[in-house]
Amino acid sequence: MKLDTKALRYLSPTDWRVLTGVETGSRNHEVVPTPLISSLSKTAAGDTQRSISLLAKANLIAKVKNTKYDGYRLTYGGLDYLALHSLQKSNVAYSVGNQIGVGKESDIFVVSDEKGQQRVLKIHRLGRVSFRKGVRNKRDYARTRQQKERGAGSWMYMSRLAAMKEHAFMSALYDAGVSVPMPLGQNRHQIVMSLVDGFPLRQVKDVPDPAGLYAELLEIVVQLAVLGLIHGDFNEFNIMIREDVDEGESVKLVPVLIDFPQMVSVDHADAEMYFDRDVQCIKRFFDRRFGFVSDEPGPFFEDVKKNVGTAEAGRLDVQVEASGFSRKMAKDLEVYMREHGVDGDAKSGGDHNTDSDSDQSGDDEDDVQEEVEDHASLMRNGVGGLIRQPQARTHSSP
Ligand code: ADP
Ligand code: MG
Repeated sequence: MKLDTKALRYLSPTDWRVLTGVETGSRNHEVVPTPLISSLSKTAAGDTQRSISLLAKANLIAKVKNTKYDGYRLTYGGLDYLALHSLQKSNVAYSVGNQIGVGKESDIFVVSDEKGQQRVLKIHRLGRVSFRKGVRNKRDYARTRQQKERGAGSWMYMSRLAAMKEHAFMSALYDAGVSVPMPLGQNRHQIVMSLVDGFPLRQVKDVPDPAGLYAELLEIVVQLAVLGLIHGDFNEFNIMIREDVDEGESVKLVPVLIDFPQMVSVDHADAEMYFDRDVQCIKRFFDRRFGFVSDEPGPFFEDVKKNVGTAEAGRLDVQVEASGFSRKMAKDLEVYMREHGVDGDAKSGGDHNTDSDSDQSGDDEDDVQEEVEDHASLMRNGVGGLIRQPQARTHSSP
């Protein structure tokens, strides 16, 4: 989704209040009537009307005709503005640059702070897939039922939950010393983190030491489990590879883990399945891409489970729950993701993710594949010149 930030600069304090009023009203009204917007934003009727016209023109709110009355609803654009405005006020993000990623449920942009230092803005967009043309299946029914249960603001609430969860887990992991981006801020459905100067493993054609990297990645899976967590989408799209050059000029590949909205606790009922799936993803990728198959079986969940909580950092699943991302929120998000087929990069199209030449069939998979290719080509073209093309750097033996 486009992020047109033109209007960000010219909205007046009254416009922001009215926009916030529409947001507040949208939480429990499918259509927010104008008088309610006026009272929620504590703005006189005439001023409210003027702001509404401007906000509607900028597509931050949309007019909805109801059988009983006309009114407005917040759009994703409006939610984007509200979140960005807050992030700007708290000096987390100053200006928005190029889009570097298009996922099924998120958009990724490069932003910079006041000093021009580059960061990454991830905007969660749960519910977007169901609106897409050509994807009509049981998810739509689920969404209708869900909307009845939770009100029209459900996409907003769920996207915010995803951002809260991702930020909470990234913070806990970062503090525990796991290789993840540095979390820098979160507001509504957006999070800001440090930019990883690298590219997804998916684009790495060749590595000098597949066995070494393989061992390192499975070590991360085990490290997470000891900390009480399973990534749940541990695959070549969500592992960034950074190249660190040391004094001796030799290049070291450093994996950095991203994308945490589907993380689960080792106490989850399906923990073992998620753990095994993460492990298998890596095994399959290393086999197909590098022709590397380890002699050693495992790691196995039952072995790792014995060591849960033994690291100095303790149990992050417990810490995150205490930090404000409650069990109830986790459950809400999990149910929504399951009902809407939000199952990460790895699962959606069977094993489409492993190689670009793998065969696809079925509408859904084609759609997913198309987006994956979009994303891959975006990254290959190095939008914004930030992500280097893997071919330009040698991963063959030094
Ligand atoms: P999604 O949930 O849509 O899969 P991800 O968090 O996996 O979103 O991000 C999508 C893509 O954006 C990644 O595969 C990566 O290429 C890029 N990206 C995400 N976070 C960062 C970051 N911190 N630094 C650099 N690139 C990133
Ligand atoms: Mg991802």
